[in-house]
Amino acid sequence: MYSKDPVLPVKDDRRLGFAIVGLGNFAGLEMMPNFKNTNYCKITALVSGDREKAEKFAKQYSVDFKNIYNYDNFDDIKDNKDIDIVYIILPNGMHAEYTIRAAKAGKHVLCEKPMANTVEECQAMIDACKETNVKLMIAYRCHYEPFNLDAIERIRKGELGSIRQITADHGMNVDPVENDKHKWRLDKKLAGGGSLMDIGIYSLNATRYLTGEEPIEVTAFESTDKSDPRFQEVEDRIHFILRFPSGILATVTSSYSIEPVHHYRVFGDKAWLDLDPATSYRDHNSVTGNSKGRMQHKIEEGNQFAGELDHIAECVRDNKEPRSSGQEGLRDVRIIMAAYQSAREKRAIAL
Ligand code: NAD
Repeated sequence: MYSKDPVLPVKDDRRLGFAIVGLGNFAGLEMMPNFKNTNYCKITALVSGDREKAEKFAKQYSVDFKNIYNYDNFDDIKDNKDIDIVYIILPNGMHAEYTIRAAKAGKHVLCEKPMANTVEECQAMIDACKETNVKLMIAYRCHYEPFNLDAIERIRKGELGSIRQITADHGMNVDPVENDKHKWRLDKKLAGGGSLMDIGIYSLNATRYLTGEEPIEVTAFESTDKSDPRFQEVEDRIHFILRFPSGILATVTSSYSIEPVHHYRVFGDKAWLDLDPATSYRDHNSVTGNSKGRMQHKIEEGNQFAGELDHIAECVRDNKEPRSSGQEGLRDVRIIMAAYQSAREKRAIAL
């Protein structure tokens, strides 16, 4: 599932057309600029509630003004042959609605993480895409990132011996309420939850791809200062232990009140592997070590953004199931909901 696929040869010179839905920070600063680094993708349409902003981006990316939509006329994309794939980069609470509307318009869907706010929404997204026979991929960029793929390969090859435990930490200081940048992240309806939905999900997802197993039990602890205006609706810190079928224990931490961290360490009985940063946009660092010494690995930095865009384009073209499918997104959301339940009820939850 998480293999280093060779780059497929270009079968024709046709790039697939993407409609970008939601022109916020991640879309504008990371994803749209990376289309030029893809082999098979181009931006052909924009969807935004802000016409002026959309026109600015349309000029920058040479998108025809006739292909600018808003949230009301979004369904008209069904008649637009320039659009093959809809890429949803909206607040989490809007992922389900726009995925289902895109599927009904007959368009393939790439949707940002977390897949949606509830297990039921995730299932509805999977069902809608199945019904209309379109691909659904969740934008887990680390599945297309060379340092993470290298870590998986080392583990599978047995370089670390038998895996015993993992720690995975993700955190950042979420901005104050008055700062527009993070506003929806503090709103339960739009965010679905706090740090875990937003960044702790990277810790969780990593434990699953590193082990290649599905956890069978979760025990979680939450700590949220309710006097902090940021945390009136969503959690700050949530830490949990996952038990995997082979006996591996993974400690996952997630925080909205620490300086940025995106790190994991995998402990085997022969060696450990440290990726720090592990899930950043760039500048990854991989080290393995044991009692005899440590080794820093020379791995070429790749372009995970272009990699994931090209992956869905290849899947559409070759009728393949995406590596980071809807089922993959659903599994994380199911575990996140169980972690919330565990913290609330102060008990272990079987998965
Ligand atoms: P953002 O706030 O910068 O952008 C959100 C966009 O949605 C804005 O253009 C906003 O105008 C639009 N929007 C439409 N309706 C809205 C509403 N009712 N309330 C608020 N905004 C509304 O957020 P972002 O950081 O770009 O995150 C968007 C999505 O991308 C989220 O699901 C997030 O988890 C995901 N994301 C993924 C990564 C990654 O590395 N894969 C990184 C950052 C964000």
